[in-house]
Amino acid sequence: MDLSRTLAGVGAALIATALLANPASAAPGDTPSTRDFGNGPERNEIAAIDGGAIDALSTRVLSAEQPAAGWSLKTRRGFPRQNRLPVWPVNPEDRSIKLGLVPYHSIAPRLNALQAASDRVSAEIVGRSAGGRDLYLVTVTAPESGAEAARQDRWRELIEEDPGAAKRDRHLRAGYKTPVWINANIHGNEWEGTDGALRVIERLSTATDAATRDFLKRSRVYVTVTNNPDGRVAGTRANGAGFDVNRDHATSSQPESRAVRDVMIATQPFLMLDEHGYTGTTLIEPATPPHGQNYEYDLYIKHALPNALGMEKAIQRLGHPETTRADIPFRDYAPGDWDDWPPIFTPMYAIYQGAVGHTVEIPLRVNNAAYDTLPVEELQRRARINTDVAAATIEAALTYADTNRGTLLADQIEQFRRGWAGEPSPVIPDGFVDGFGPEDRYATTFPRAYVIPAGTAAAARLVDHLISHDVRVTAARSDFRAGGRHYRKGTYLIDMHQPKRGLANVLLEAGRDISGLVPQMYDISGWSHGLLWGARVDSSVRSLPRVPVVKVSRAAPTGSVDAPRGRDLSLSLRDGTDVRAVNELLARGVKLRRTDAATVVVPAEARPDAAALATTLGVRFTAAPRRARGDVFDQPVVAAAVSADELFALKEMGFAVRPVSTAILNAGFDLSTVDTLIVSSGLSYPALNPAARASVDAFLARGGGVLTRGATGAAFNAAARVLPVTATAGRADANGVVSVTNEGRIVGAGSPAHSFVYSPIWFTGTGVTVEQRYGTTPLVAGHWLPTEAGTDGPAQAAGQPAVVSGTTDGGGHAVLFGTEPLFRTHPKGLYAQYARALLWTATRPA
Ligand SMILES: [Zn+2]
Repeated sequence: MDLSRTLAGVGAALIATALLANPASAAPGDTPSTRDFGNGPERNEIAAIDGGAIDALSTRVLSAEQPAAGWSLKTRRGFPRQNRLPVWPVNPEDRSIKLGLVPYHSIAPRLNALQAASDRVSAEIVGRSAGGRDLYLVTVTAPESGAEAARQDRWRELIEEDPGAAKRDRHLRAGYKTPVWINANIHGNEWEGTDGALRVIERLSTATDAATRDFLKRSRVYVTVTNNPDGRVAGTRANGAGFDVNRDHATSSQPESRAVRDVMIATQPFLMLDEHGYTGTTLIEPATPPHGQNYEYDLYIKHALPNALGMEKAIQRLGHPETTRADIPFRDYAPGDWDDWPPIFTPMYAIYQGAVGHTVEIPLRVNNAAYDTLPVEELQRRARINTDVAAATIEAALTYADTNRGTLLADQIEQFRRGWAGEPSPVIPDGFVDGFGPEDRYATTFPRAYVIPAGTAAAARLVDHLISHDVRVTAARSDFRAGGRHYRKGTYLIDMHQPKRGLANVLLEAGRDISGLVPQMYDISGWSHGLLWGARVDSSVRSLPRVPVVKVSRAAPTGSVDAPRGRDLSLSLRDGTDVRAVNELLARGVKLRRTDAATVVVPAEARPDAAALATTLGVRFTAAPRRARGDVFDQPVVAAAVSADELFALKEMGFAVRPVSTAILNAGFDLSTVDTLIVSSGLSYPALNPAARASVDAFLARGGGVLTRGATGAAFNAAARVLPVTATAGRADANGVVSVTNEGRIVGAGSPAHSFVYSPIWFTGTGVTVEQRYGTTPLVAGHWLPTEAGTDGPAQAAGQPAVVSGTTDGGGHAVLFGTEPLFRTHPKGLYAQYARALLWTATRPA
């Protein structure tokens, strides 16, 4: 499927607006910028097929955040740090080759040769991709002794830890090397960022002129040469696990995003570029509103706009007819056409880490249909121009960073100083930079502290996540009261007087309903670890709770077996980790019983297994009621037509899943041993051939279970006549955090009061049980407008069933989700409700 297609309606509006905003965009080969969608609407259309990469990853348990690699910038070694990179076998199938670009297997040899030839180049492995490939970080700088490197490191820390002292330090101001970071190829089939970056690396490492030498004495240039080698080789946007890495920075489910997060924290760049493609016209951020409300936006835009103008000049100087200008959304587009709202994109996330971040989109399409249909000469001509553009933007950004090193340093110091001081972000006046107006003004109020009660796997997961993002977390050393509530010793506190308070807040706050502010948004407009990750997160708005604290570098263990020996154990399915424990026990052959949809009884003799899982997963077993009965159950046999992120989440929870799709069923897939069929992506009942349809019908007739999600699932429900309800859908791009009321005993039982939606659905009809309803004012944060006729908006969804369960004509169990409990693996606190539904649908009728 062609991912370059834009969302119907929204995309058309976007293109029309871009045309209006850019009357000059009719230069030869100069088409209006278009945007590739991530795993948004198309995630309902392509069922994920198992990859070995995911199997290996699924052993990474969802409770634990592991470091991307044993890599650290902090060593006693100076520069260069010459590492002989392992060389990968030549792969003639690498999709870069047809374009005349550097295939993945050639990168390590090139970097090895450069390291041998120059004392300015260091290459390291900073992580491994989902598919197991090395992720390279190249550092280009003038040689440093161990002592000099250590001093740079102390200065970097001082800027973050004590900005006031850093500001006063003359030696730091004179001697701190300007850190700039270039990230290339995060979308695997947007290749030339890598090639442009390699060209710049080669020039910097071999140039003999005094200007370059002096530049490298003042600068450290960091390059993650390809952030997505799996996609580079395969010619895909996604990584080997099917994820769009450039949507993962708030969730960190993928090794590629974790690796660059760690690079950002370790290098603390003043400025960064994320090199993408292909928008027709080169596109260079800063973006349109809505602007992230947690930025110190004045410190950002004062550099981002002039740096973008400098990059535009640089591509004009190339002299190609295709590079006569750039689209700079802040300057050229209408609000909502290219926003910087969610922290899921690399440059937006990087702003919170102290960098002036830019997405750069190189112009000429060479991927998707173009890759297969254009003549090779034309593809290579385009790829050469794209490489020129990538290199030119990088060079221009390096020049900007060097020329403005003093103010960039002062402004990074200022960002962290405001955080420590707890100052409100300043109100930015109109005209602060050219074009800054009221539509650009976004702000939030930072609470004084967040309070996270300890003791659950969900709380530990959230705390470890925050710490891995360089958010400072402490733990109370005694019981305390705050906001009229009592908290126990060990409760986590996030004092919002800290350097990266913007990042802490953008992850934890509820967010905001921005539906009325712009006509459409590109990607998610709501997220919230505070509301969706399953941990209780309180905020203390005005005062810091008065309690002695200790710094936390890792969450305290949460698992336990709280039951007398010899007693059966009970496990409550409230979190994905609980589900994982159940699946691991079943896989070990332990006979489990379920007393209700949310409670599993573990026999006393399996106590050692339970104790081991309590330790590794942080789950809590309690004493089961005496003579607890319940039905014995097995690991369900699940056939799943689901998206890649859902498949990943299912595996995180330990479910063994057999991927299916329309094509797989049509090829004769045997449903006879399947307990539950999940349908959310890539399975169309009308598109099944007669034999496959008969097989699905027979499955339903014998009481097979069904779980559906989203529009594809709802269409399957209607076509295969699973439950007698009708689905109504909100706008395809509507998304965000919604309030829900929980009613049913399967999905509703003990679920959080919030859920996540993307293309929200609600159900009408009778003969089903309402598990969960949308709240009376459903949208808490995000963007969800009604149609032009005023239908299908949050007002119409209010109070309507969001999740229903029921019994099919064949006597099987079915659950339909109109919400998105596994979306991109972000809403961790919703996993268990999905799993409970899955286990219930897998129960054979009596
Ligand atoms: Zn891209």
